[in-house]
Amino acid sequence: MSSKPGPVLTLAARWLFPVEGDPLEGACIDFRGGEIVAIGPREGRLIDLDYGNAGIMPGMVNAHCHLELEPLENEAWTPGDDPENEVSWLKRVVKQRWLTDPESYADTAAKHASELVRSGTTLVADITTAGASGPALVETPIRSVIYAEMIGLKRLRALTTNEAAWAWVNAVEPALTRDRPTDGSFRQRIGLSPHAPYSTAGWVYHQAVGSGMPLTTHLAEMPEELELLRYGTGPLRDFLDEIGAWPSEDEWDPIGPRPLDYVRHRDLRGADWLIAHANYLEEKDLWQLSPAALKPDQRMAVAYCPRTAHRFGHRNHPFRSLLERGAIVCLGTDSRASAPSLSILDEMRFLRDHNPDLSGSLIVAMGTLFGAWALRADKFCGSLKPEKKADLAVVALPDQEAVPTDPYSLILNSNLPMVATWLEGELVFSMS
Ligand SMILES: [Zn+2]
Repeated sequence: MSSKPGPVLTLAARWLFPVEGDPLEGACIDFRGGEIVAIGPREGRLIDLDYGNAGIMPGMVNAHCHLELEPLENEAWTPGDDPENEVSWLKRVVKQRWLTDPESYADTAAKHASELVRSGTTLVADITTAGASGPALVETPIRSVIYAEMIGLKRLRALTTNEAAWAWVNAVEPALTRDRPTDGSFRQRIGLSPHAPYSTAGWVYHQAVGSGMPLTTHLAEMPEELELLRYGTGPLRDFLDEIGAWPSEDEWDPIGPRPLDYVRHRDLRGADWLIAHANYLEEKDLWQLSPAALKPDQRMAVAYCPRTAHRFGHRNHPFRSLLERGAIVCLGTDSRASAPSLSILDEMRFLRDHNPDLSGSLIVAMGTLFGAWALRADKFCGSLKPEKKADLAVVALPDQEAVPTDPYSLILNSNLPMVATWLEGELVFSMS
């Protein structure tokens, strides 16, 4: 039993999905002082709160998000439409950013942080450009790793954003590290995010690695990126020329001709990289993300954003081949500028819809435990088991008398909502 003080609270629901272990029907979960103390049959137990026909799961982990981005104005694209060209979309994002009042980022980030809580998210990896998502997440009762973005191929722009990122880190670090528990868990951590090989100078990547902080970057996102790295040409080059962001000849110095060079070249190898998208990693390169290719205790993972990838027509994501090689693939939503919601449950359901043969336990692990692993949080969250934190999501289940052959279908082949979110044993969202 845990030595944590306080009374034991017992929750029950028709199904419990521990993730590490099979789904349990008619089970209950006990926690005390924010920590899970037991999971077992509910029979004969006094239940404090019975969610009835619902599923209790670990809180969702959103491994790639930009809380500061709003949906695009005059959004013409809707799910079901033909794919949108990503470079054209990028132009619209940049234009919208130019027109956005910097004062509004705080409200946008706060609004989206609260959407995360309502969608059962208990841990998020967020990238901040304007510095607003940090304060918003500190005010929000979930865990986060907040990465400061660095961007720019031209030396001056890269230096400016690099300096701004460090200024932000120095300003927020005391607040984000205050009250950090001594048990290895965290509420907020900070990291750095060189944006992408097509937008960010190679030296920025090297400097970010030198910090020893958690890192994330967009990589192998679109075919145009591969062309730019290899030949310095194509639609991305035209776009960068158009907005005055293409560097002079001596400033254009890609780390290598392939996206993975940006996390594997010399000192870049060995850092904790959370790779966003990875839609176009080549089959022959995938071994580089397998456990055998990593240093001991290194965490390198791919944050796959299924609905965003689908929107842009990136339909052959190598997640199956990566998983077969033992690589970790977790799930992200990306921002509201490309995804219809910030819900990882929605991503899981989309993944199931488009991959009916993919096992439910794997899909749910990708949206919980695997993300926790990538963010070094798996010791204390990401699954339901004694001594982990009581970070829970409770989802309504469809009425169904018979026990299904695949209990995960109750969550994944459904559109019923989240009804509650618990963070470290405290109710932080309840539908009623
Ligand atoms: Zn992104």
